Parts: sequence; structure tokens; C-alpha cells
Amino acid sequence: MTQKYETHENDVLIIGAGGAGLRAAVEALAQGASVGVVCKSLLGKAHTVMAEGGIAAAMCNVDQADSWRAHFKDTMRGGKFLNNWRMAQLHAQESPDRIRELEQWGALFDRTDDGNILQRAFGGHTYKRLCHVGDRTGLEMIRTLQDRGVQQGIDVYMECTITRLLKDGDKIAGAFGYWREQGRFVLFKAKSIVIATGGIGKAWKVTSNSWECTGDGMALAYEAGAELLDMEFVQFHPTGMVWPPGVQGLLVTEAVRGEGGILRNKNGERFMEKYDPKRMELSTRDVVARSIYTEVKEGRGSPHGGAFLDISHKPAEYVKRKLPSMYHQFKDLADVDITKVPMEVGPTCHYVMGGIRVDAETGASTISGLFAAGEAAGGLHGANRLGGNSLSDLLVFGRRAGLAAAEHAKKSAAPNLDNAQIEAAEKQLLAPFERTTGENPYTIHMELQEMLQSLVGIFRTAEDLSRALGELEKFKARAALMRVEGSRLFNPGWHLSRDLQCMLIVAQAVATSALARQESRGAHSRIDFPKTEDAWGKKNHVIAKKGDAMTLAEIPVREMPDELKQLLAEDK
Ligand SMILES: Cc1cc2nc3c(=O)[nH]c(=O)nc-3n(C[C@H](O)[C@H](O)[C@H](O)COP(=O)(O)OP(=O)(O)OC[C@H]3O[C@@H](n4cnc5c(N)ncnc54)[C@H](O)[C@@H]3O)c2cc1C
Repeated sequence: MTQKYETHENDVLIIGAGGAGLRAAVEALAQGASVGVVCKSLLGKAHTVMAEGGIAAAMCNVDQADSWRAHFKDTMRGGKFLNNWRMAQLHAQESPDRIRELEQWGALFDRTDDGNILQRAFGGHTYKRLCHVGDRTGLEMIRTLQDRGVQQGIDVYMECTITRLLKDGDKIAGAFGYWREQGRFVLFKAKSIVIATGGIGKAWKVTSNSWECTGDGMALAYEAGAELLDMEFVQFHPTGMVWPPGVQGLLVTEAVRGEGGILRNKNGERFMEKYDPKRMELSTRDVVARSIYTEVKEGRGSPHGGAFLDISHKPAEYVKRKLPSMYHQFKDLADVDITKVPMEVGPTCHYVMGGIRVDAETGASTISGLFAAGEAAGGLHGANRLGGNSLSDLLVFGRRAGLAAAEHAKKSAAPNLDNAQIEAAEKQLLAPFERTTGENPYTIHMELQEMLQSLVGIFRTAEDLSRALGELEKFKARAALMRVEGSRLFNPGWHLSRDLQCMLIVAQAVATSALARQESRGAHSRIDFPKTEDAWGKKNHVIAKKGDAMTLAEIPVREMPDELKQLLAEDK
């Protein structure tokens, strides 16, 4: 059976070529493993390339009072203490080294006058902490990691979608997928797999995420028997473009606020004074997003249903130098000159704090040989992520997952691929072609996005979430009967038919966890349970597949060691 397919073999297979996947690949290679990286788009085009504002790391180049301890505290506070504390500790301790390493590999950061890496302010960070390259930090990060990986010898399989993980008994054995151009099937054999497939934003109507962010990795892991953690926590970034409609949701980087941008409502009031007078525009994203939403709902929104974000009080040359992408984004897409007039902005689905449940030290999932890192993994950010903490997450935990995956591969025998699993994967992919009736995947996707936007958005209620779960059952039934026309050649409708199955799984995981969490915490705001409850602060949610059913369990938040407890207590 396996002879029927083009087959590639590596010790470690990384699914995803964003920051997490590439950093994992570089590390696994350094450990002597043979490494394959597979990605849906071209190498260099992963969603990470869109990251703008910067990478958080307590380098202390601008604010000498900063420290890993302060970064740890900010991360835990931002995540409303639901974070995996060990991940938050490792992240804060190791991110400065990861930045220095990136610099040694050729990344050119903006500089201070005395030649150090410049750091800017960002919401929820006590000190100026974000290392950046104007507002194009992700591009520099990807360029550097990609150069390093290619130069060191990774095998790259690009424009290829993985649709199923293959197992040999309880262990990971490889993956099944198809080449997006030709539609040909392909097998990957590997002793270890790292999932680094990024986020889930494309399941919502208004999102900052790229087309690749359809939750594939989480769905693949779930289907293979891994667990998903705290899926209720989906971050709505406060500032996406609201106008014109074609670009609605496109991100307006937090760096605008970091550089001094001011938020006002239609009456010219600086409304953050009401919601967070201490931190104002540099409050955390959950708070700013809810504030804008509330201003709009109460009739004080901008003409296109958002708020005004103004940076025009800064010199035009400064704005163009520090925020070049924002300047061009507004000029080219909305005919707005942000050096002269305010932008119109509103919340956009941006990031998922939940994800595959992993071990803090190694990124290991609950399946032997399966690891995860980056946005696809859960734990570090708790109930809400601070800006800049994702890029540092990718570096710290990408490296750790690559290291552990290589070590696992060293001590593992070559796996066997199971024909029955391969056959099932092929059958599943071909099924939509075999139907003569049925809806096309575009209609179902569009309606799913609208439903999630209205029922599983910034503010939630039991009634809406229960309705959403009912709707999801109907969507699943429709998707099981959907039809794709044409052939496997260059067929985006067929690609979407598979992505849609992944989005339905993650959407159900989000709605199920959100309905169960009867409190408001971080990015999860329940109108019917508006308070943050101590008892809920001791519980994480775990989603798993049992038979054909999705199950939800509460697990206790891991006890923090005394020295870290003391650190957090110092501020009280
Ligand atoms: C506009 C924007 C700006 C941002 N700015 C910042 C910032 O300044 N600082 C910060 O910390 N964070 C920022 N973020 C968040 C951050 O960019 C992301 O969380 C992060 O880049 C995710 O990286 P990743 O490596 O986990 O995944 P991604 O970069 O999303 O990469 C996922 C990879 O997986 C591949 N893939 C997915 N599914 C499959 C499949 N089935 N088969 C094969 N391959 C697959 C994709 O092709 C891609 O290569 C920003 C986000 C956005 C949207």
C-alpha cells in the first residue's frame, strides 16, 4: 500500500514553517536529526511573517529595572493566573538568549543610540520590553530562521497540507497529506512530529489571521488522541481596521499605542480614562477590546462602527519610520494618511491562548512522539496573551520542542505505517468529489464564520453558547454531505473542504469550554457571569476525543512553588 504513494522519511517532521516550526527545525538539526518541514504555503510566507510590533524579552536595554521576574509577573497577571507557571517562568528566563541568538544569526533589530537592541512599550508590560524591526518584526524573524534552517540542511516540503497523523500503536509514526498544486497524495514517515500550525482565526468572520489559520494542528492532534487545553480563551485584538469592508479585521499593530497612539470616541473623549485610568491605551488587549466594543454599543462609536486611534500628534517622519507598514496599509487600502488624521479601528479575532496540552519543558503532548509549539500549543498565556509574548513563545518553546523531538527520535525505532489509517485518510479526502449533490464548502464556511462571530465573540452568554453548539451540530451534518466540483488539480474549494472539518472541531472545543466556564476571566467575558471567581482560577479545561464524542474535563491548575508565589505576592 505505502508503495502507492510518494513517501519521505525524516527523524523529525515539523508541521508548520512559522516562527515555532522553523525554530524547532533549527534545534532538531543541531541535535543531529534529519528534519523535514512541511507547510501549506511557500517557505517564508507563514503567518508569523505578518507579526508587527515586536518580541518581548527582558533584555533591559532601555529600562534597566526590567528582569525575567518582572516579565514573568506581567505574563501571569495578563493571563489572569491561569497560565502554566512553569512555561511562563521558562519563557521569561530564556527569551533574552533567544533574541541574542537570533541576532547572531543575522536579524537586524532597531537600535538604541548606544547600539543595543531597541525596546518599545506594549500593553500589559511594565517596562519597555519589545525588541522590534519597525513594524515588520515577523518578517525579520522568519527571514533569519529560514536562512539558518535552509543553510543547515532542513528538507522543505512546501505547499503541502497534512490531513492526518499516522500512528504505530500508541506512538506517532508519520503523517498523510496532499500537494496543494497537483492534489497528489504524499506520506511522511517520522519518529517524532512537532505540530507548529498556528492559530484558528479563520473560523471567525472578522479576523487578523492569514488564510492558513484554520486550526489544523489542533484538530489533527485531537483526532489522534491528544488533549486540548483551555480552548475558551480566544483573543480579540482591540484594533483591527473597520473600513473599507474588504479589509475589515486587518490588524492595526499595538505598536501604534506603544508609540503613543490615543483612543477616542466620536465625541472626542479619551475613553480609556473610564476603563483603565492607570494604564490607559496600554492596558491589556482584553480590556481595550471590551472598552471599544462598549463605546460602540452605547452609541459613541466612529462612523464605521469602531473607535478613533490617533498618532497624528507625533511628527510625520517619526510615524513613517516607526510604523511604516501601518502608514502604507492605511494610505493604500483606505486612502487615510495616519500622520494627519486618526485611524478607525475595532476588535478583530486575533489569537487563541488555548491549544494542544503540552509538557512545559519539552512540548510533548500526551501522545508518544507528538510535540507542539507556538500558537498551536496551549498553556503559556493563560486567559489572555500580552502583545509580543507570542514571538518569544515561538522562539523559546519552538527550540525546546525541536530539542525534545530530536532526543525522542534518537531513542526510537523506525515506525511502521498502517495501511488502514492511510486508506481512511485518502477516503476522507476524496469523499466530497464522489457526491453528486451537497453544498459547496464556501457557503458553509461563510455561515460558520458569521455564527461564531455573533454567538462566540467578545461577550458570551449561556444562551448564545448553547445555541452555537446546536448550530455546530447542523454545520457538521452539512459538512459531512458537502460536495466539491472539478478535479484535485489547483482546487481551493477542495482544500477548504478539509480545512472546514478542522475549523468545526476547534469551534466546538471553544464553545464547549466557554459554556462550561461560568465566570469572566481575561479574554473570556460572560455577561451572565461577569465576575472573576477564585474557584475557577484553580481549574483548567481539557478537551479530548472519546469514541466519536468530544469530552470536557476540569483539571486542577498546577501548584506554584513558593518562590514564585512570593514573587507574585510582592505586588499585592
Ligand atoms: C497581523 C498580526 C501581527 C502580529 N504581531 C505580533 C507581534 O508583533 N508580536 C507577537 O508576539 N505576536 C504577534 N502576532 C501573533 C503571532 O504572529 C502569531 O501568534 C505567531 O506568528 C504564530 O506563529 P506559529 O509559528 O505558531 O504559526 P504560524 O506562523 O501561523 O505558522 C503556521 C504554519 O503551519 C502551516 N500549516 C498550518 N496547517 C497546516 C497543515 N494542515 N499542513 C501543513 N502545514 C500547515 C502553515 O502553512 C504555516 O507554515 C501577530 C499576529 C497577527 C495576525
